[in-house]
Amino acid sequence: MNDINNKLIDSFGRKIDYIRVSVTKNCNFRCKYCMPNTPPYIEETLIPLPKMLEFLKIAMDLGIKKIRLTGGEPLLRSDLSGFIKGIYDYKSGIEVALTTNGFLLEKYIKDLSKTGLKRINVSLDSLKKETIIKISKRDALDSILNGLNLTKEYGLKIKLNMVPLRGINDDEIIPMLDFALSEGYLLRYIEYMDNSFAFKGLKGFRGDELLKIISTKYSFKPIKKRHFGPANMYELLDSSKAFGIIAPHSHSFCEGCNRIRLTSDGIICPCLYFEDAIDISSAILNDDKIAMKEALIKAVFNKPEKNKWGENETSSRAFYHTGG
Ligand code: SAM
Ligand code: SF4
Repeated sequence: MNDINNKLIDSFGRKIDYIRVSVTKNCNFRCKYCMPNTPPYIEETLIPLPKMLEFLKIAMDLGIKKIRLTGGEPLLRSDLSGFIKGIYDYKSGIEVALTTNGFLLEKYIKDLSKTGLKRINVSLDSLKKETIIKISKRDALDSILNGLNLTKEYGLKIKLNMVPLRGINDDEIIPMLDFALSEGYLLRYIEYMDNSFAFKGLKGFRGDELLKIISTKYSFKPIKKRHFGPANMYELLDSSKAFGIIAPHSHSFCEGCNRIRLTSDGIICPCLYFEDAIDISSAILNDDKIAMKEALIKAVFNKPEKNKWGENETSSRAFYHTGG
């Protein structure tokens, strides 16, 4: 479907062609910045993935071109590969992406590689076993690294996401980039976003602070944005390799925002830091195509111009619910 057919335009003229879909709130990690104190299992009413697929077909017909699957930990949905294949079977030109903590890639990468999926984002905050345990409460490093190697062997592209935290993994800001460059992965640093579910007192880094640290080893220049994405990209001067910084504290983040979110329980959130949301679970469960279509158009139209996140505010919405 080409652009002029996109029906998802918000009241500020931004075209929405990207949906992030959280397929579960649950997770096998307990990251300090995300859900350190939640119980081992969170009760949730999951939308069955075949029903969610029907909603996504409508979204694709209206102009969605990119779908990111996230969570919680999306690979906890054991039928995820079939779901991804269903998306590609409906529209082969669609871009599907997956954000995972990587722990279950060893188990699922073979199935995932047969779906049409071309790239995977893996959240990796450290290359030290003890630091991974400290951040995620899981002895996960070996499984993640093994999953990364297998993913590469199966020919999928890999992006790494790192959330640098003061006093926890800030000694690895450069080693993580060394690692990503040597393995052929694209590293993106994410500014820590405060939220009421995170471990109290965590302190992250702003983008400019990260650039200063990286400049002690690498020379780089910003890459002009060809299209808006969440990351500011930088190219290393001695190679064509790059890294990125996701800086949601900057307001330019909102200017070109092209995304909307669907939670695992069927709520459409027009913005991560905005309380309004539309519950379309009954429309999805009843396969009410008209109601799904109307709700999606309405949610897009109501997207706020900027996130409602002041410098010193936290988000009351859990990232493991909205998908980060
Ligand atoms: N479980 C998967 C994972 O960790 O990749 C997907 C869901 S997770 C909520 C999605 C992304 O959000 C991860 O890259 C994670 O690092 C990031 N994230 C979670 N909480 C965050 C926070 N408070 N600040 C910045 N990034 C955060
Ligand atoms: Fe789980 Fe991802 Fe949250 Fe970590 S960031 S607790 S892996 S959902």
